[in-house]
Amino acid sequence: MEATFESQRATALRWRESTAGERIVRIRRLREAMLARREAFHEAFRRDFAKPPAEVEGTELLPVMDEMRHAIAHLRGWMRPQRARGAVTMLGTAAWIQFQPRGRVLVIAPWNYPLSLSFGPLVTALAAGNTVILKPSEMAPAVSAVMKQVVGEAFPASEVALFEGGPEVSQRLLELPFDHIFFTGSTRVGRIVMAAAARHLASVTLELGGKTPTIVTRHADLRRAAEAIVWGKFMNAGQTCVAPDYVYAHQAVKDAFMAECRAALDRLYGAEAQRKANADLARIINEPHARRLAALLDDARARGAAVTGGEVDLAQRYVAPTLLDGVAPEAHVMQEEIFGPLLPVLAFSSLDAVIGEINARPKPLALYVFSESRDEARQVLARTSSGGACVNHCVLQFAHGGLPFGGVNESGLGNAHGFFGFRAFSHERAVLRSTWPALSKLFFPPFTARRYRIIRGVVDFLKLPMP
Ligand code: NAD
Repeated sequence: MEATFESQRATALRWRESTAGERIVRIRRLREAMLARREAFHEAFRRDFAKPPAEVEGTELLPVMDEMRHAIAHLRGWMRPQRARGAVTMLGTAAWIQFQPRGRVLVIAPWNYPLSLSFGPLVTALAAGNTVILKPSEMAPAVSAVMKQVVGEAFPASEVALFEGGPEVSQRLLELPFDHIFFTGSTRVGRIVMAAAARHLASVTLELGGKTPTIVTRHADLRRAAEAIVWGKFMNAGQTCVAPDYVYAHQAVKDAFMAECRAALDRLYGAEAQRKANADLARIINEPHARRLAALLDDARARGAAVTGGEVDLAQRYVAPTLLDGVAPEAHVMQEEIFGPLLPVLAFSSLDAVIGEINARPKPLALYVFSESRDEARQVLARTSSGGACVNHCVLQFAHGGLPFGGVNESGLGNAHGFFGFRAFSHERAVLRSTWPALSKLFFPPFTARRYRIIRGVVDFLKLPMP
């Protein structure tokens, strides 16, 4: 590990002046190697958590291909120095931002979208001209084994390397003085990563989790809301960082909304009795997580929640898509990120109170509001904070290449995707070229009375009313 890191030093220095063309060749190399293993990925996803092939294509390969295509199309523009305009006091200078590779970067990934959350950041890191060490999660071992082959085929370890293993491997990597660390995972481990980065003052991007609230107001199109929420919540068996975690539904429409959710479940996943056999539902990643979800369910039930679905088969790591009605606020399912196919639906009467409750919790990774009233949606957006948001949909903000993707405070730090990912992996170097040196000399000593008057005059000028 240490030797590989050392071997990337010379590459990183060489790559500092790499052209867009050279970087695009690297991204294409990764793309060829990845597509050559397409079927192997399908098999690996089946083994790790029975992920439906359509979700492998749509939520793993598609986002990576999209990231690649976007980077290849726009990299030249992104890399172009950005001219910076200065105030009148900057007369006699030209200034621009030079995007430089950060150097050697570490990408630590989670298991829930093991391919897209590893190769997605890898693409933008390469677009920005960095060498990369990638540490995927130990919990999706079949997928990381295929990723290791892909990376090994596309790159020598002195350019991009992948190390498999759990927290111990992460910890050892975190000892090394990387120039940037891009971490996706839980808020708990995010804190550990940031503390480790502080030792070398490595910059960090933290893509974390949290409880994403979803509001269904009485002005919502209930059928549309239910269908979008059922899709966003139960894809990947609810193991999605931006999945709706819980729903606030207005009391006047809550029962109708729940009925629409049940109907949407039937449409998307078939009748309840046959759902376990439906290959469109992924499994829970491992038994401890299945047990954790079963315990959340038992606890909510014991506190009086009414359950639709609720079947758990630990041996098969199956947890049925489940709606929870009448959940007590102190139930565990309302205290931690659920990260599984359990959807508490809470009734509310006042939007103000809901906004107050959301603002009393840590800022979430996403927030969704379903309402046909633009004013209502605008109010929610204006008065809350979250990494991202959707109006009348969910999860899709993740897939929009033109939007930054990231959290805020406890749900994360910094952004990924497209230009924002390129930026995360670049140093924005401020460059100023002096074109008329005589002007700035007015501010040099000796501070004669005349110079003092000029400097004072500039200060007075700055307080003049704006035109
Ligand atoms: P995790 O934090 O347990 O693990 C993430 C990575 O960190 C893994 O590679 C793991 O090996 C490593 N790791 C674990 N313990 C460590 C330690 N003590 N020191 C150093 N490294 C350690 O997260 P997870 O269970 O893989 O993923 C689920 C979490 O990730 C959820 O909270 C989810 O919301 C979040 N998530 C966020 C995003 C996002 O883009 N914001 C995307 C997916 C998942």
